[in-house]
Amino acid sequence: MGDFGVYVHIPFCRRKCFYCDFPSYAGEERWMSRYRKALCREIAAQGCRRLQEGTVRTLYIGGGTPTALLADDLLAVICALRESFRLMGGEEFTVEANPGTVDAALLKRLLAAGVNRLSFGVQSFSDALLSAIGRIHTAREAEDAVRMAKEAGFRVSLDLMYGLPGQTLADLKDSVARAAALDIGHISVYGLAVEDGTPFARMEETGRLHLPTDDECGDMYDYITAELPRLGYHRYEISNYAKAGEESRHNLAYWQDVPYIGLGAAAHSYWRGRRMENEKGLCRYIACIEAGLSPAREEAPCSRESHIEEFAFLALRTAYGIDKRRFRETFASDVREVYGEVIARLQTAGLVEETAASIRLTAQGMKFGNRVFEEFLLERDEA
Ligand code: SF4
Repeated sequence: MGDFGVYVHIPFCRRKCFYCDFPSYAGEERWMSRYRKALCREIAAQGCRRLQEGTVRTLYIGGGTPTALLADDLLAVICALRESFRLMGGEEFTVEANPGTVDAALLKRLLAAGVNRLSFGVQSFSDALLSAIGRIHTAREAEDAVRMAKEAGFRVSLDLMYGLPGQTLADLKDSVARAAALDIGHISVYGLAVEDGTPFARMEETGRLHLPTDDECGDMYDYITAELPRLGYHRYEISNYAKAGEESRHNLAYWQDVPYIGLGAAAHSYWRGRRMENEKGLCRYIACIEAGLSPAREEAPCSRESHIEEFAFLALRTAYGIDKRRFRETFASDVREVYGEVIARLQTAGLVEETAASIRLTAQGMKFGNRVFEEFLLERDEA
């Protein structure tokens, strides 16, 4: 086993954003201290098991809102990671942050503890939109937090969203310009999807959610995909744009079939071809660890077909696409033996293209990614 990634999930937020269905809880601060203790126990146990198996090349603490924890609790988690795993040195270490939950003192402690990258959920630089989607910070606070992080010495990424209720193309243009003016290295952009069980889903059911039309969303998508590269951010994955050398190494590893360990409630792991998911519920996760039990449940065993499909879907999300050599090494088959007809059909439709080293989506293919991914599903014998 070579290098691998480590993901740590912090399932707390100050308040739930109206579109969010991530496993995170608001108003559950009373559990934070017990969660931190349980998480540190899991980190120590997993670190001990993996110590001989390889070196950690990326760490990512996400959520939820890691910076919603008390600073001492977050630092204790970081310390446990450093003590329990063998880090490669120069590893990328990212913490997700909400601009409403950082200050200079916390940033200084994170930097001193070896965190070198911060990923801020900002979503928009319109105060009206931020309030309409339930964010806890203003546009000005987001700009201040990003500037503070940059001055402290972090690499910074920022998330934006389009297709928000009431959002116009002019709003989006303003947000993209303000994000780029911060001169950060990385920007992620996601289209709003109304997920079951969220306040937005309930508003939609009762006709109170007024979203931009498909055409308006299409215009926003076209603007983003043209404007960010023009500003120097190359698109290296369907939703991710970076200046040269500023790509997220942690996320790239997910898309490149690299193993990772997930720690904390609802975290996923991918290890030696097996997929595991930790207990989702906050209390059940804590109870498991306190009882000395593993919180991990194995997902359905990964068949060769499903491994091939997943390898293809994930790789196709990236600008590089499916690496033909790695495909052959992993599955002992040429990608054209498995997907020859599909590739030919999608090439004719202008959705994929072939280079000497890879099969990748064209710009049109990225726009209609779901259509392409469906084609990469393999037929299975029902016998
Ligand atoms: S801060 Fe992030 S994780 Fe928390 S509710 Fe909002 S979108 Fe979800």
